[in-house]
Amino acid sequence: MAVTKGEQYFLDRIRLGDEQVWADFVSRYRGRLLRFARAKLPQRADAEDVVQETFIAFLRSIGRYRGECDLETYLFALIRRKIIDSYRSAGARKVCLIQDAWDSDHDEGSSDLLDVVPSPAQTASWYARADEQHDQQKTILAEALSDLVDGLKKNLNLRDLQIIEMLLYCQIPNKEVARKMGLDEKAVALIKHRNLKQIRENVGHRLGIAEHKSAPMNADAEIPDSLLTDLWEYYRFSCPKRNTIGAYMLGTLEPDWHKYVEFHLNVLGCRFCRANLDDLQSQSQETQQEAFQARIMESTIGFLTRPM
Ligand SMILES: [Zn+2]
Repeated sequence: MAVTKGEQYFLDRIRLGDEQVWADFVSRYRGRLLRFARAKLPQRADAEDVVQETFIAFLRSIGRYRGECDLETYLFALIRRKIIDSYRSAGARKVCLIQDAWDSDHDEGSSDLLDVVPSPAQTASWYARADEQHDQQKTILAEALSDLVDGLKKNLNLRDLQIIEMLLYCQIPNKEVARKMGLDEKAVALIKHRNLKQIRENVGHRLGIAEHKSAPMNADAEIPDSLLTDLWEYYRFSCPKRNTIGAYMLGTLEPDWHKYVEFHLNVLGCRFCRANLDDLQSQSQETQQEAFQARIMESTIGFLTRPM
C-alpha cells in the first residue's frame, strides 16, 4: 500500500524541483491517467485537461502527501476527484463497469449507488467527526481491509475475494452477487458476515495495540458499507499491480491468477485497472510498430538508390 523506495526517490527529487525527474514522472503516469479519464470523458481535449489539472494538483499537494498509498493510487484518487468535481453526473463516481450494468437494470429513482447516505446510527461512531481521531480510525480500518485482502490472496481464496469485491468495492446486492457466482444468497450472506467479522476483530486487535490518548472507538460498532466502499475506492486494496496486468496481457500468469485478473478487469470492470491495461496495450502496439518500422528500414535501405 505504501510508497516504494523508487517512488520515494521520485518524490524527493520532485520536491527539490528536479525538472528531468518531473518530466520522467509525467511520462510514466500520463498514459494510464489519460485512459482513465477517456473512459468518462469522450472528448480527448476534456480528458487531457483533467490529466493536466491532476498533475498540477499533485504538485500542489505534494507537501501534504504522507505516502499512505503508492503514487499511482494517489494520482488515480486525485484524477477521480477532479472528474467528479467537474462533471457532476451520477456516472462520474462509479469506478467499475459492473455498477453501470447493475444500475441500468435496476434503476429505481436513485441513479447513484454511491450517494447513499449511511443512517444516523451508523454515522455516529465511524463517520461523524472529521478530526485526528477520525482519520486514525479510518487508517486502522484501511489496514484491516488490506490485511483481509492479503489473507484471501495468500490462501488463494479467490472466490471469496471476488465476492467481497462485488459487495464492498462495488456495492452489488447479495442476491445479484449470488447469481453471478452461481451460489445461493445465504452462502453469500454468510461469506460477507464471516469477512466483516474478521475486519472488526482485526480493528479491535489493532485498537488494543495502539494505546489511545483519546477515548477508544467502539470496535463492535457496525461499520457502514459505504465507508468500506469509500476506503476501497481510495486505496484499491484488491487491484492487481501494473506488472501483474502486464503478465495477464502476455498470458504468463498462473491459471488461478489469470482467472482472477480477468474477473477484476472484465466482470467487475475496474476502471483503474482497465486504464492500465489499455495503456500497456497501446505501449506494446507502439513498440511493435517501431520494431516493424525498424525491420522495414533494415531490409529496404540497401535498395534505396544513392547518388553515385
Ligand atoms: Zn482494479
